[in-house]
Amino acid sequence: MNEHNYDIIVVGSGTAAQTFIGDIVAYAGDLRIAVITESPAGGVCALEGCNAKKFFCEISSTVLKTKHLLGKGFKKLSVPDWEEALKQKTAFTDPVSERTIEWLISKNVSCYNGGARFVDETTMKVGEDVLSAEYIVLATGARPRKLDIKGEEYVFTSKDFLEHKNFGRSYVFIGGGFVSAEFATIVTGFGGETTIINHSDHLLNTFDNDVVDEWRRSAEVDGIKFQLNIGVKYITKEPNGKLKIFLSDGTSIFSDYVVNGTGRIPNVEELNVDRANIVLDKRGIVVNKYMQTSNERVFAIGDCINTMQLARLADCEAHVAAINCLKKIRERKSPLVSFNYLAPAIVFTYPQIAMVGKTEQSLINKGLRLGIDYEVSSGKDVRWANDLREGSRFSSFKIIMSPDSRKILGAHIFSPEPSGCINSIKTAMLAGRTVEELWRETVLSPYPTRESDLTYMLNPFLQEEKLKY
Ligand SMILES: Cc1cc2nc3c(=O)[nH]c(=O)nc-3n(C[C@H](O)[C@H](O)[C@H](O)COP(=O)(O)OP(=O)(O)OC[C@H]3O[C@@H](n4cnc5c(N)ncnc54)[C@H](O)[C@@H]3O)c2cc1C
Repeated sequence: MNEHNYDIIVVGSGTAAQTFIGDIVAYAGDLRIAVITESPAGGVCALEGCNAKKFFCEISSTVLKTKHLLGKGFKKLSVPDWEEALKQKTAFTDPVSERTIEWLISKNVSCYNGGARFVDETTMKVGEDVLSAEYIVLATGARPRKLDIKGEEYVFTSKDFLEHKNFGRSYVFIGGGFVSAEFATIVTGFGGETTIINHSDHLLNTFDNDVVDEWRRSAEVDGIKFQLNIGVKYITKEPNGKLKIFLSDGTSIFSDYVVNGTGRIPNVEELNVDRANIVLDKRGIVVNKYMQTSNERVFAIGDCINTMQLARLADCEAHVAAINCLKKIRERKSPLVSFNYLAPAIVFTYPQIAMVGKTEQSLINKGLRLGIDYEVSSGKDVRWANDLREGSRFSSFKIIMSPDSRKILGAHIFSPEPSGCINSIKTAMLAGRTVEELWRETVLSPYPTRESDLTYMLNPFLQEEKLKY
């Protein structure tokens, strides 16, 4: 048994861990830091998540865009090549692990490879090494939920999908979350047949129902099939190599590949958190706004905690934890800090689905009434100039405002490039600006961009007397 002592132990080497360590070494390079990580180092975002998948999203959305523009400037579809796209992705992902370790070593961080477990409140064990520290930061991420059905061994995880070499003719996605929506779009763009199977008719359930319905109409026209309110009972492999998927209504379908898109669960079981008095709930480690767990010597950040699983949210949490960890070590009495942040999210289908803030459904569930407690500006299949040029047949938006404060409560957009609009709305929400103030700023957006469409979305809210400069 080898015993070591550090100022901070970080468990994990994904984006949350790297952001935390980046802050600590920038502001307190003298602290002794250890990282315990399982292989490969680097984390989900770079290796098998946001960045990896985008190599395929770029190609498939370009193909789908040309499909929407057939007869409007394109005579035929552009032809994607799975092998080429896979090569591009692999050239990006292959060096990630080694570079992560090199970067950690260059910052004088001690690296331990393996699964970390708590021994007590401030001590962890990895292999034959026992590490203790003043503070511990958990950044262990999440992994795909198991299906627990017969034939699970034939089912791809999202990682398997992003690494498979032989593009198939048909794919079945189990689950109606973002992995199924995005990866089914990828398959469609690359010319495969896709079916999404979901146990309810509610897809992408953190997003607005109406906007998601519009995506579904659009996806169906692009070739994605949906089998809703149905479960998968088991899967077998036929002698010809095809997979046979047996459904809860007694029917079955065949497919080359089946992909698990039923969601991701936090990596917490292996940690022995009960030895460190750390409280969990169903969605992960419970933290306060300073990113402290129920054991105030342990912080937790990223996908392993009970917030949304988004890369930049993981980074924000890491910044908060780093500031507070440093405050604890350096200025023992000064108050801890929290950030005022809002996490926007985009599903990279084509067109994309974007959101920030509240959904209308969540307001209704709280007993709030349309026209009294909140107002909506919404549109469907609008034919603004940008939509006509991009050949968009389907589009949708919904902005929700509080009539009392005239501030935006939530925004939901289905369009080829919703990111600029959603980000402008997020900034206005954070700054507490009214719809009239946001409208005035938006009038001077570069034209004709998607961002400039925001004025049209806000128009129905405007009150003349409040627009006066
Ligand atoms: C297919 C896919 C697409 C995604 N697309 C997007 C997107 O478009 N936008 C977006 O914002 N987010 C996206 N995400 C989510 C995003 O990738 C995560 O939010 C982000 O990577 C979380 O980072 P993290 O550092 O918390 O965890 P991770 O990156 O998962 O890192 C966890 C680390 O902990 C280590 N570890 C785990 N358990 C132990 C243990 N017991 N001991 C030691 N080490 C351990 C692992 O080896 C790993 O290094 C996507 C995710 C997936 C799967």
